[in-house]
Amino acid sequence: MSNRTNGDKACSDTLGLSRRELLQALGGGAIAAAGAGGLLLPSPARAYRTNARIVIAGAGAAGLAAANRLSRALEGAHITLIDRRKRHVYQPGLTMIATGIWQPGKIIDENRRYVPRNVEWVDAMVAEFDPDADRLVTDQGQVIDYDYLLVTTGLHLDFAAIEGMDPALIGREGIGCVYDTPEHAVGTWQMIDQFINAGGQGLFTRGPGGIKCAGAPLKVAMLAEDLASRRGRREALQLSYNAPSDGLFSQPQIDGFLREEFPARDIAINWHHRLVGIEPERRRASFQTPQGMARLDYDFIHVVPPMRAPDALGDSALAWQTGPFAEDGNWLEVDRHSMRHTRYPNVFGAGDCVGTPIGKTAASVKAQVPVAVANLVDTIRGRESGAAYNGYTSCPLITRRGRAMLVEFDYSLAMVPSFTFIDPYREHWVPWVLKEQMLQAAYNAMLRGRI
Ligand SMILES: Cc1cc2nc3c(=O)[nH]c(=O)nc-3n(C[C@H](O)[C@H](O)[C@H](O)COP(=O)(O)OP(=O)(O)OC[C@H]3O[C@@H](n4cnc5c(N)ncnc54)[C@H](O)[C@@H]3O)c2cc1C
Repeated sequence: MSNRTNGDKACSDTLGLSRRELLQALGGGAIAAAGAGGLLLPSPARAYRTNARIVIAGAGAAGLAAANRLSRALEGAHITLIDRRKRHVYQPGLTMIATGIWQPGKIIDENRRYVPRNVEWVDAMVAEFDPDADRLVTDQGQVIDYDYLLVTTGLHLDFAAIEGMDPALIGREGIGCVYDTPEHAVGTWQMIDQFINAGGQGLFTRGPGGIKCAGAPLKVAMLAEDLASRRGRREALQLSYNAPSDGLFSQPQIDGFLREEFPARDIAINWHHRLVGIEPERRRASFQTPQGMARLDYDFIHVVPPMRAPDALGDSALAWQTGPFAEDGNWLEVDRHSMRHTRYPNVFGAGDCVGTPIGKTAASVKAQVPVAVANLVDTIRGRESGAAYNGYTSCPLITRRGRAMLVEFDYSLAMVPSFTFIDPYREHWVPWVLKEQMLQAAYNAMLRGRI
């Protein structure tokens, strides 16, 4: 299954396409994403007239995409978007910043450019959800009543769950983390760069349970290894990937690929190693293992914290109260297909905050938001709602600079490739070109609710 030596020639033989022809064939980012995104639901031809009060909590990828779709689908609705964050970060680009491929300016945008005119933006955070009273309270003390609620708060990076860790340490003392801000992604790149030049012990980690873009920690490890090889510094580094469980990736064939790929590239795998503590001044990390605590020295460590729902959501009645999605991260309780809350039928959710078996990616947001919006609009119209999310998620799994695998799968964990001419089990340049040149435009089109 794995093929580590694909060159442009092999790829071009397989596809019968040159890089330029591919770009022409895909016709730019929006068309690429129309393929690499699963479900596309047509907007209703005419907006439906209503005076419903709809609140969207969280103006990230899912919240903005939903605001745009709702504002077009409904006329007269009072739509409120709540979030204090003004800056919009194209998070899939953080991996490119943290590995020295892009500059941070490329991924920083402003939310206001995507907020539709007929949507009221409340500059605050939700402090408390009260779904029994159909209302919420902001951290400014504002009480907001709603008829329908869409929860799109994303997730919380729980650095505090790792003893001694603080996001302020990222970019110092050999500590990196791709998941935080663009500034910290730059700091991560500085740490990786210094580590490769100086040599030593590199530890790569992954938070347990549901994390966003579960491919990102793997990509950082493989890109660091690739860069060291290119610089002729590979012999100076000892690398290990510390997996908190007994798997590397949820999709079985890709998991199988990585289980071969890491040892082949001399990246040791420590199974059941969960990062629980860090001593920056000693450059030592503690891992909980079935045999007890393991302490490993490092010169560079990639810290990936556990992730969970933001407190306002996780502490509320909207969160799963029992079961795996309660224990894993207090995620939002929704039906995994309709994206509707199971106990509060006027509440819907999308994005990283939802408790579904898979799907904390922008690609999932692109598939989930049209479903949540269609079902919400149908409910307002008093119609049977039938849109269903199939669990679609996607990750351009970068294996080395210039090479990636386009991994797309759904709840069944079966691969669902959008492009039949790309072999999803092989590394080649086409998914790399998608990632490097096209998917950001597709993401922006998604924010506008266009795809
Ligand atoms: C390093 C990295 C690499 C990635 N790579 C990929 C990739 O290759 N492909 C891919 O498809 N996806 C990738 N992703 C994942 C993708 O970026 C996320 O899944 C997506 O951004 C989730 O969108 P969201 O709207 O749920 O959350 P976000 O975009 O994070 O937005 C959540 C918003 O909610 C707000 N909020 C939080 N709490 C409250 C509150 N109490 N009240 C009001 N607002 C609140 C926040 O301020 C934020 O603006 C990557 C992510 C990272 C970090």
